[in-house]
Amino acid sequence: MPSKQDKFERPEIIRPPSEWRSYYLPLTGGCSNNTCAFCSYYGSKLKVRKTDQVKQEIDALAIYMKHGVTLPSIPGIVYEIAQYWDQRRIFVQDGDALVYPYKGLVEILEYLNENFPTLERIGTYATPQDILRRSQDELNRLRELKLTIFYTGVESGDDEILRDIGKGVNYHQVTEAGRKVKEAGITFSVTVILGLGGVEKSEQHCLETARILTEIDPDYGGALTLTLVPGTPLYERWQKGEFHPISPFQSLEELKTIVEESHFTNCFFSSMHASNYFSIRGRLPQDKRGMLQELEDILVEGDPSRLRPEFLRGL
Ligand code: SF4
Repeated sequence: MPSKQDKFERPEIIRPPSEWRSYYLPLTGGCSNNTCAFCSYYGSKLKVRKTDQVKQEIDALAIYMKHGVTLPSIPGIVYEIAQYWDQRRIFVQDGDALVYPYKGLVEILEYLNENFPTLERIGTYATPQDILRRSQDELNRLRELKLTIFYTGVESGDDEILRDIGKGVNYHQVTEAGRKVKEAGITFSVTVILGLGGVEKSEQHCLETARILTEIDPDYGGALTLTLVPGTPLYERWQKGEFHPISPFQSLEELKTIVEESHFTNCFFSSMHASNYFSIRGRLPQDKRGMLQELEDILVEGDPSRLRPEFLRGL
């Protein structure tokens, strides 16, 4: 009989857009760094799933993929995801699955590799704190086990804003985490949030964010736009009149400055996320001029009907 402590609630699927083809394997629930003032994970309690339970799910998945047999003890969602899965990619959940205890994580990754030899890559959300906690050798080992893409929220390059939003790390720590990821040969995909400094800190937010992106020089960069989520501290600050959000067109000004001021070696950069008012994408530096022109045109035009309507925006 499982005890109450064994009970692990499967988190809802929140994943990067590029993981749409993956199997979603929960290792944790919530986020270990639950202090970010804008995030729906704010105040969540980290839950760590037992390694044996994860391996049981892997066993059931392997049986289904080989023989098409389903087991009554396994939740139906496993088979719902598995029926469209091509056995190439896995995304381990949840908010920062890299926090999973290293020994157990290695055991799970080895087990995945044994059971699914055609696996090409495994991806995870990772906070800068999780990355800094791992030694270079440990990160190298994870890459060997096909944990080859990390998704990290950088949010802003400005230390004051990082402090205001409770990110728990500063500019230097984030760039140090980025350096370690790159040295391990792990693909690094980062996101920043337009509007995070509000009206007052908009300029410093853009310039410092461009600076940190340049220093990290990631493989993928994405811009999101701040959405105020009820129940979070930033939402409350807004309600009290202490935080002044930027307008949709100001978010495009911010995006333009970030694209203009950052310098990459080879980065696929986009604002395709559903939270944004306008989508651009391209490879930088090659496509910089075109992307800036697109933003310039829409800013000059100033036509709100060209922006994503509020009701279609998503988190
Ligand atoms: S680290 Fe990421 S998932 Fe965790 S609370 Fe902050 S923004 Fe949310």
